[in-house]
Amino acid sequence: AAKAAGKGTYRFFAPDMHEQARVRQQIEEDMQRALERGEFHVAYQPVVHTVSGALTGVEALVRWTHPTRGAVSPAIFIPVAEEAGLIAEIGEWVLRTACMEAAKWPAPISVAVNISPIQFAHQALPSLVASALAYAGLPADRLELEITEGALLNETAKTRAAIDTLKGLGVKIALDDFGTGYSSLSYLKSIPFDKIKIDQSFIKGATLPGNNNAPIIKAIVGLAADLGMITTAEGVETDDQLALVRSLGCTLIQGYIYGRPLDPQSALERSRQSSAQAVGHRRER
Ligand code: C2E
Ligand code: MG
Ligand code: MG
Ligand code: MG
Repeated sequence: AAKAAGKGTYRFFAPDMHEQARVRQQIEEDMQRALERGEFHVAYQPVVHTVSGALTGVEALVRWTHPTRGAVSPAIFIPVAEEAGLIAEIGEWVLRTACMEAAKWPAPISVAVNISPIQFAHQALPSLVASALAYAGLPADRLELEITEGALLNETAKTRAAIDTLKGLGVKIALDDFGTGYSSLSYLKSIPFDKIKIDQSFIKGATLPGNNNAPIIKAIVGLAADLGMITTAEGVETDDQLALVRSLGCTLIQGYIYGRPLDPQSALERSRQSSAQAVGHRRER
């Protein structure tokens, strides 16, 4: 039975289809109560400039601590939330929480929020974003929305209008997990992204022998530059990977080598530290 998988795990890949459906049902029911009970929180992972190592922003990542199962990965519960019609509510909560948190950090440190394709398809997204910014008192240019190709699969005039409205507010738009979807290049042609996040699957093997990752990363960086977009290398963990993405010219780095996702207090301290350092540098000159 699923329970036999023990605390902290949802036995998601149960061989039995019926069992699988039951576990999913359970996650769904538990999630419905999770918001009211305050079981969600947001973690903030540092994003730094590749050359200087200075903190430029953080990515907001939702966390769920289940009362009996412990931490449940967003990779598991976000897809369930999307199918169960709960993602709009969870996503709005994350957006509002992240904006309020980011308003405490010194400028120009920004916050990036993941937006599900389902939220993106909803025509109220721009007004929701405007409301979250106004309530938090966060300038629009310090918010970035991360969208995946999934949000653009059925790119319509509506999607394009939503992006234009969001950009009109001053919000930045990043294309997340680049390279893992179907036909990324066609989106680059039509959508004015500010940033491309190179998926961690390209970084992972890049420094090992026998793969083509480095030339692919290099090509993405060059393409982005020609299109006036910056790049973030996701999932940088080792010194070798850091040296490689530096040499290939990625603008920004996000990965365990510079920090795991932090609780709000630690993120606040980190942002203040980095701001103090920046002031120090200016004084030295
Ligand atoms: P993502 O948006 O691509 O976020 C980056 C993921 O990579 C995060 O996993 C982060 O903890 C992980 N990561 C960062 N650096 C490293 C590294 O050096 N090594 C390794 N192994 N992993 C690294 P996380 O927090 O588990 O989130 C997984 C995915 O869940 C996210 O991928 C995103 O697609 C989704 N997600 C998380 N929070 C939200 C949210 O608030 N809304 C929506 N719609 N999706 C979310
Ligand atoms: Mg992301
Ligand atoms: Mg990503
Ligand atoms: Mg991802």
